Amino acid sequence: MRGYGSFAVRDAVIQKEKKRERGFGVSFKGAKLRKSIPSLRWLVQALYTLFYVLVGVEFSYFYTGIIEGNFHLYRPPAVEGFLPIGSLLGLRHFLATGTYDSVHPAGLTIIMAVIVSALLSRKSFCAWICPVGCLSRMIEQGNKRLLKNRITVPPLLDHLLMSVKYALCAFFIYVIFFKMSVKDVEMFLSSPYNIAADAKMLMFFLDMSRPTLIVLLAIVALSALVKNFWCRYLCPYGALLGVISFFSPLSVKRDAGVCIDCRSCSRECPYQIRVHQKSSVRTVECTACLNCVSTCPVDDCLTVNYFGKKRLKELTVPLLLLAVILSFYLAARVTNHWESRVDSGTFARFYSIAETLDHPR
Ligand code: SF4
Ligand code: SF4
Ligand code: SF4
Repeated sequence: MRGYGSFAVRDAVIQKEKKRERGFGVSFKGAKLRKSIPSLRWLVQALYTLFYVLVGVEFSYFYTGIIEGNFHLYRPPAVEGFLPIGSLLGLRHFLATGTYDSVHPAGLTIIMAVIVSALLSRKSFCAWICPVGCLSRMIEQGNKRLLKNRITVPPLLDHLLMSVKYALCAFFIYVIFFKMSVKDVEMFLSSPYNIAADAKMLMFFLDMSRPTLIVLLAIVALSALVKNFWCRYLCPYGALLGVISFFSPLSVKRDAGVCIDCRSCSRECPYQIRVHQKSSVRTVECTACLNCVSTCPVDDCLTVNYFGKKRLKELTVPLLLLAVILSFYLAARVTNHWESRVDSGTFARFYSIAETLDHPR
């Protein structure tokens, strides 16, 4: 904090900022837009979650229909977004051979789009699009209003737990990119197990075993007690995006010269980042949710920047993310790399024995 020695002076500065927002200078519109970021994020998250619920419903119709011999139903390719491990294998194969995965091409397209989005706009996928992130936020908000009994994990334990997701991520990267040969990957991609992976995923949700249900309920309960439990400690996908986002030129920057040290930014950060102490938020945990920017009472104190210099409008974050996702989707459609090349008969054959299929060894 610089130059604001007492609460009276601090209050005066806040009042001055509010006045500016009400009628002077250029700040009113900007401030209004900033304040609406959390609602806008709800809207984007809700729409995307709804989209994925519809994809799930359509896929379940396809699954039951095709097993009963109805080959005229549509299989929504976006369902492959639920198969991140298979998509990562598809990416490994694509990087090694230049051949696009023909079994789950949409999965490969989605994972590439998400990786590029992490490079351009940090983990914005987590904050703005991921349905699990949306669920996590809903639990968090529900807890805030109903339970009011969030557990604060001690810093040492917090760091230890956070390392779990990075360990899981390192394990998958090691196995997929270093341990498996290209031939192993090819065998996996063309295996019945991989072809029926979407059906297996559906059964995982619809026909849950008791231990799986217990683990899932435990994660939901823990998420109610500890902010973002799954995303913060366990999700290897988020960890991967975090590591990639380290190279992103986008960051939230704090102008220490005008900061009044109210700490609102740090309180509102879903990942408990101490924004009020940083000049630029470059941690791999930042999801570019912009909660901090939205809550800051001082105009132009927290801003979104590219390469630490060029200031961007806050809306650039979701727009950039949506532009990347849309570009990859359109490119895949135009070049015929969106729909699976597996024919309905093969899907029907492997879906009907999906329960018995195991990993190729
Ligand atoms: S951490 Fe994982 S589950 Fe959470 S929002 Fe990101 S990708 Fe989704
Ligand atoms: S630092 Fe700001 S943008 Fe990053 S996660 Fe925290 S609140 Fe969101
Ligand atoms: S919200 Fe954070 S950055 Fe903004 S004035 Fe308060 S402490 Fe400073």
